[in-house]
Amino acid sequence: MRQSNLLIPTLREVPAEADLKSHQLLLKAGFIRQLASGVYNFLPLGKRVLRKVENIVREEMDRAGAQEVQMPALQPAELWQTTGRWNTMGQELMRLKDRHERDFALGATHEEVVTALVRDEVNSYKKLPFTLYQIQAKYRDEKRPRFGLLRGREFLMKDAYSFHEDFDSLDETYEVIFNAYKRIFERCGLNFRAVIADSGAMGGKDTHEFMVLSEVGEDTIAYSNESDFAANIEMAPVVPNYEKSAEEAKPLEKVETPNAKTMQEVADFLGHDLDQGMKAIMFKVDEQFVMVVTRGDHEVNDVKLKNLYEAEIVELASEEETKEVIGAGFGSLGPINVPENVDVVADHAVEYLVNATCGANEDGYHYKNVSPERDFKVNQYADLRFIQEGDLSPDGNGTIEFARGIEVGHVFKLGTKYADDLGATFLNKEGRAQTYVMGCYGIGVSRTLASIVEQYHDDNGIVWPKNLAPFQAHLINLNVKKEEQVELADDIYNKLLDAGIDVLYDDRQERPGVKFNDSDLIGVPYRIVIGKRASEGYVEFKHRQTGDQEDIHNDDLLNHLK
Ligand code: ATP
Ligand code: MG
Ligand code: MG
Ligand code: MG
Repeated sequence: MRQSNLLIPTLREVPAEADLKSHQLLLKAGFIRQLASGVYNFLPLGKRVLRKVENIVREEMDRAGAQEVQMPALQPAELWQTTGRWNTMGQELMRLKDRHERDFALGATHEEVVTALVRDEVNSYKKLPFTLYQIQAKYRDEKRPRFGLLRGREFLMKDAYSFHEDFDSLDETYEVIFNAYKRIFERCGLNFRAVIADSGAMGGKDTHEFMVLSEVGEDTIAYSNESDFAANIEMAPVVPNYEKSAEEAKPLEKVETPNAKTMQEVADFLGHDLDQGMKAIMFKVDEQFVMVVTRGDHEVNDVKLKNLYEAEIVELASEEETKEVIGAGFGSLGPINVPENVDVVADHAVEYLVNATCGANEDGYHYKNVSPERDFKVNQYADLRFIQEGDLSPDGNGTIEFARGIEVGHVFKLGTKYADDLGATFLNKEGRAQTYVMGCYGIGVSRTLASIVEQYHDDNGIVWPKNLAPFQAHLINLNVKKEEQVELADDIYNKLLDAGIDVLYDDRQERPGVKFNDSDLIGVPYRIVIGKRASEGYVEFKHRQTGDQEDIHNDDLLNHLK
């Protein structure tokens, strides 16, 4: 395509609002433009790369046997009310009303919609298992949209949902999709790890996150180069020994008790060491109490602590949300900072810990009825919370290292929660109605694009891997007033197009310095420069990645582009 009429608004200065390289470079090189906080236009170059990432995802999902569909972004509130997420999603869910004053949400994720669809359209075990997926804009009113495409409020996600007659079948599909994810991120050229993640409130079923190793990641992962072991260190130490949703839990009331446990007792109770910095903290937010158990001594967690506090606590303002955290989210919140305006009462916190975790007991919330063996189970990954750099990895095969990670994908064994809530059943072999077992699998497509830029850039701009670059070759005519140069450039342009090579042709009337700058910024793998030796048929051929360059003859060009 001819650059003279392409919309590639490159910038000379680093945009003030951008801190991260991916954000800066995608703006500077004219790939994206912000419309509102966390909402972006993809310009022609951005759209081209986005499509390449999408296609990798699509090819691998198809190969894994998943079927592509497209579900609506506009979703009736009733669906979300049925699963309770109309309340528990809190302010992250974008809401609107239609002209009849009916409530709607913009899809933040599609468990509700897909479960309702399958409930209504599938009725026999004979169709099982199957997986539906889509690549579509998602809407989340993130507390802190930032880092450009890494945390947007409208972003592109691939989300997939699998339906099964039992957990064995779910396990099989989970593995297939897990492997598809590995191929996807390998094809994206990313240095990533699949990490064990916290399934916290969802009842201890398997879940893995795919983390791109990057200093700018918001998560901390423990991994080992010598073994397959890798985990998000924010693992829940204990989980409530029941699998009830927050809706089933009775509302929490503050109970005055003379028998509040001490921190030492909590530590003993949880099997942790107080020296390790475990804290139980109670937050008072709008007269509601929120209890979080945390191990707060870890330096690398400090940033996260702050993020979590700002991201979560402020959103815990409503009664419903508080209940969710207490009833279902215990232990999975990770460490948080204690802000000045919050009550911290350790002993009472323990009371809330016990009340909260046993919240669904028939007796209500009276912790005198608590039996640790009966009411708690230690998460199988509990020890990972205390892992340190230099430790032996749990499989004994390597040494633990810490790294920051960007979550680009997440696979999750959902179980029957959504099918239960929405009454999604099929007829099993015996002809009886049975609830679907489900899995869900997400990839942040636009976040993946930004992660690629985080990993592939140098001081001058983006350095795209060949299979993801917006164009394969960048043809630059240094002087459009010189007839022999125009002639050769046009000739090469057509030759490359005929050979099926995607070429960006800089035919603009600009100074060479501007052209080179833009070319470096945009980051196409091969650069072909038409300059003084045009009359001899020679061009300058340069590799963006290595900087290697040589003069080659027009006749040899195609061989170099293979
Ligand atoms: P995060 O922990 O970063 O908030 P999440 O766990 O809330 O992400 P999921 O619900 O697991 O996200 O969604 C699936 C994928 O969608 C994530 O793994 C991530 O790659 C992507 N994603 C989630 N939120 C955003 C966002 N605000 N902007 C861009 N991509 C996102
Ligand atoms: Mg999130
Ligand atoms: Mg996450
Ligand atoms: Mg996730």
